[in-house]
Amino acid sequence: MILRKLMKLFNNSDKIFNLFLLVLVSAVCFLWIVEEQLEVIFDYDRYGYGVTLAVLVVCYCLSVLAKKIHIARIVVFIYLVSYLLFLTIITFLQAANTGTIYTVASTLQWVPVLYIVSFLFLPTRQAIFSALGIYCVMLTLLFVAHVDVFELKNTVLQAMLLNAALSQSVCIFCLFGVVKLKRTKDASNLRAEKMEKAANIDGLLGIGNRRMLQSRLSTMASGYTPFSLLLIDIDHFKAINDTHGHLIGDDILREMTQNIESSLRPEDTIGRWGGEEFLVLANGTELAIAEKLAERIRLAVEKQEFTTVGRVTVSIGVAQFQPNTSVSHTFSIADKALYEAKNSGRNQVATAQT
Ligand code: GH3
Ligand code: MG
Ligand code: MG
Repeated sequence: MILRKLMKLFNNSDKIFNLFLLVLVSAVCFLWIVEEQLEVIFDYDRYGYGVTLAVLVVCYCLSVLAKKIHIARIVVFIYLVSYLLFLTIITFLQAANTGTIYTVASTLQWVPVLYIVSFLFLPTRQAIFSALGIYCVMLTLLFVAHVDVFELKNTVLQAMLLNAALSQSVCIFCLFGVVKLKRTKDASNLRAEKMEKAANIDGLLGIGNRRMLQSRLSTMASGYTPFSLLLIDIDHFKAINDTHGHLIGDDILREMTQNIESSLRPEDTIGRWGGEEFLVLANGTELAIAEKLAERIRLAVEKQEFTTVGRVTVSIGVAQFQPNTSVSHTFSIADKALYEAKNSGRNQVATAQT
């Protein structure tokens, strides 16, 4: 449960950033207290920790309260880079005087955070340049220190610097790999989403197809809201095709779709059941209201002057889903009602009594 909530936080880069600031504030506070108690605190860190906490808290307020997340990110990023690089130089100089390696080691340990922050909060291209830029500066510093410009006179420290240079390059390489993998995964998710959408859309009319309708129907049937089906069939459509050709027939199907859609309410869903048959799922609608909706659709179609062919009519069968029955039963009684409407002379609405 807690893990799921935490994972949800990690779905949003803004939330990750805010969480990152909180984690960093806690880490700095903890470090400050521990280093003071163990008396290993570096003089500059006494001021540095205070300033860092102030910057992080201001940026947190900027991000959470003022919603200036972009500015907060830039400030945090520039601050952390400057602070750690500056500290690295200072610790080298200090190590040369005192011979202690704790401050150098503790500063270098934090440098990979800069690479992670780059990849976490910057677009990939900028992240690569920024990480490589920081790494080049670090490499120069480490090299300069290694060849003893700072006169460290400490082989352990020199070996540690070489170690840091190598581990940081591996860190950047791994981060690049993770980002690359994530991009590939995002691209395939997007492709899968597009394919899923395309699989539910009718290519000719751009509305949902039978697959979409069936899936929506089973979802609606498992809920508690009443709903009705309107099965709409164009009258004598074969004659339109025979007289004017299939391309004009396709145009009529498109115009018909627009016409029916104009009579629908936001809660209704239209789809192409097949051929010249449409199905409207009227959510939250009982039979009497569904019948009125069907009549409104029939009338709107009857009034329209269709391109090339003029007047076209539809017949509609209406049925309400009963929770103690199945979707296929509701569909079959709507189909029977449609058959009745056709038999009674077409251009009619017929309602199925359950
Ligand atoms: P009724 O009033 O009884 O419904 O008669 P009808 O002519 O509409 O019914 P019928 O089922 O005999 O004909 C339906 C026609 O719809 C036959 C088929 O060629 C045509 N049709 C199905 N899909 C398409 C399509 O995508 N484009 C075109 N142009 N015609 C289609
Ligand atoms: Mg038909
Ligand atoms: Mg027909």
